[in-house]
Amino acid sequence: MNMAMFASSADPIAPAADPLDYLADVLFHEMGSPGVYGRTALYEDVIERLAALITRHREPDTEVMRFPPVMNRGQLEKSGYLKSFPNLLGCVCGLHGTESEIDAAVSCFDAGGDWTASLSPADLVLSPAACYPVYPIAASRGAAPAGGWRFDVAADCFRREPSRHLDRLQSFRMREYVCVGSPNCVSAFRERWMILAQEIARDLGLSFRVDYASDPFFGRVGQMMAVSQQQQSLKFELLVPLRSEEKPTACMSFNYHRDHFGTAWGITDASGAPAHTACVAFGMDRLAVAMFHTHGRNVAKWPTAVRDLLCFPRNDQ
Ligand code: 5GP
Ligand code: ZN
Repeated sequence: MNMAMFASSADPIAPAADPLDYLADVLFHEMGSPGVYGRTALYEDVIERLAALITRHREPDTEVMRFPPVMNRGQLEKSGYLKSFPNLLGCVCGLHGTESEIDAAVSCFDAGGDWTASLSPADLVLSPAACYPVYPIAASRGAAPAGGWRFDVAADCFRREPSRHLDRLQSFRMREYVCVGSPNCVSAFRERWMILAQEIARDLGLSFRVDYASDPFFGRVGQMMAVSQQQQSLKFELLVPLRSEEKPTACMSFNYHRDHFGTAWGITDASGAPAHTACVAFGMDRLAVAMFHTHGRNVAKWPTAVRDLLCFPRNDQ
């Protein structure tokens, strides 16, 4: 089904036809909510090849962890998420009452009423980024060694931002390399990755630029946090002009959290000071969409160098 077909003008969030809409029918299956899509085999194959490419660039002594799409609510609270992005959080809730209370909720639904009023929050939230669960795990291990710790993490992430743009999903895959340690080793990690990631993007044939960025912190206080983040060069993004040069899409980000997570979780570096942390995040779905938009919907016709980089079989063309 073509996205343009179900983005009707009666729908309050439907924009005018978007430049990426033409990709919808080969990449996604509509699932009834904007930004939540089933994925075609063609798309998933490219996602897996991109993931393998990122794996091939993994630095030595990096510990691999894969996380589920949910995480402990208390842990995300402790990491300060509610101070920064409360509007984006998705929470798990359930029918936690007695049997008769649950029966009443179901009867309410059967009678056409609102059964969701009976829901109450669980101890789980939908992970908004892949790296959040790693900090409490690191904290449980004592002080970071002199060279720091490096982690390779991934998760299905959720951010409550309904949109029909194919590069703004509510549910999307994020892969990250994370470093925990002294300020020097963490800044060096981020600098190495800012160079390496640009090489990867260039080899993938993407046009891009890297620029200072800030997170979409919530509210008026948030605006000040965003200014300070930008002033301190704490966030950079690799931007690909998917729909326009003026509004490019962030496909990767390079984040230096200073001692935010170290202090929140009581992680220390080898000197006993609060550990610093940084992460490089790859938006897997945005990268895949960027590849199809750049090289076309027919992967057999992608440039040979790009196909080779992604290990497509040679005789496939
Ligand atoms: P950040 O934590 O920097 O906001 O997100 C890390 C990366 O995840 C971004 O650079 C981007 O590639 C990806 N990402 C963030 N938000 C979205 C989204 O709404 N949709 C998709 N597909 N990817 C996203
Ligand atoms: Zn991160």
